[in-house]
Amino acid sequence: MKRLVYLLLSICIVSSWSCTSKPQQEADPWASFQLPPVELKQPYPDEAGAKLYLSIVEDPEAFIHEQSRRVLDLLYFSPNDEFIPKLNHLEYVLDNYDGISACYGGGDMKGIILSNQYVESYHKEHGAEALIEENKGVLCHELTHAFQLEPKGIGDYGSSELFRVCIEGVADGVRVLSGGFPKESDRPKGGHYMNSYRYTGFFFAWLVNNKDKDFLRKFNLSTQHLDPWTFDGAIKYALGDAYNADDLWAEYLQAMGD
Ligand SMILES: [Zn+2]
Repeated sequence: MKRLVYLLLSICIVSSWSCTSKPQQEADPWASFQLPPVELKQPYPDEAGAKLYLSIVEDPEAFIHEQSRRVLDLLYFSPNDEFIPKLNHLEYVLDNYDGISACYGGGDMKGIILSNQYVESYHKEHGAEALIEENKGVLCHELTHAFQLEPKGIGDYGSSELFRVCIEGVADGVRVLSGGFPKESDRPKGGHYMNSYRYTGFFFAWLVNNKDKDFLRKFNLSTQHLDPWTFDGAIKYALGDAYNADDLWAEYLQAMGD
C-alpha cells in the first residue's frame, strides 16, 4: 500500500541534478528559523544506494536543514513573511523508487523520496563527491516543493498544467539560482515558458538577474493574491503592469541568443 501511495504522490520527478555550494552569508537571517525535524526512513536498508547515502552524508538532518535555509532565502524576503508554510514534520525516505526523487504530503507534513537505485548508479558513474553535489541539487528542487506557495483558483497539480508550470518552474528556478545547473548545456534552448521545469526555471533566474532581484519571491507570493492565478498576472504582480510574459520571454530568448 505504501508503494502505491508513493507512486500516486510522486508526481514531480527531477530530471537531473547537480548543485554547487552557495557561499555562506555572514549573517544568515534564516539561521534561527525553526525547521521541521527530519525523520529519516530507510525501508530497504540493505540496498546499496541506502548504504551509500548514509556512508557519505554523515548528518542527513543537518544537511537537509542547510539546503532548506538556502531554499527559503530564495522563496521569501525574510523569516517574518506572512505565508511561509509551517511544517512540523519532514520525512526523508531512502526508497526503492523508479525515478530520481519526489515530494509528497501536504499540510504541515511533507516527505521527500530519494531513489536508492539512482544513488547507486550515480555514485558508480561519478563518485562520492559528485553524489553530494547531486544530492544538494535534488534537495534544492524538492525542498522548494515543501516550502513554496501554491496558486489558487486553477485546480491542483494533477488537474492543471498551469498549476504544474507554476510549481515546477519555481522549483527549478530556485535550483538554477542556487547554482544547481552549472553547465551551459543544462539550459534548454528555445521553447516556451509553459514548457515548465528548466525552461521556466532558467527564465525566472534571468528575470531575477536582469529585472528584479526579488522577482522569484514576488512570483511565489503572487499565488496568495491572485485568484484565479495566471502566469501573466504573476508577472505583472512581480514586475508591474508595463510587463507581460510573452514579451519578456521574447526578450529572454534574444538575450540568450536562442
Ligand atoms: Zn518537482
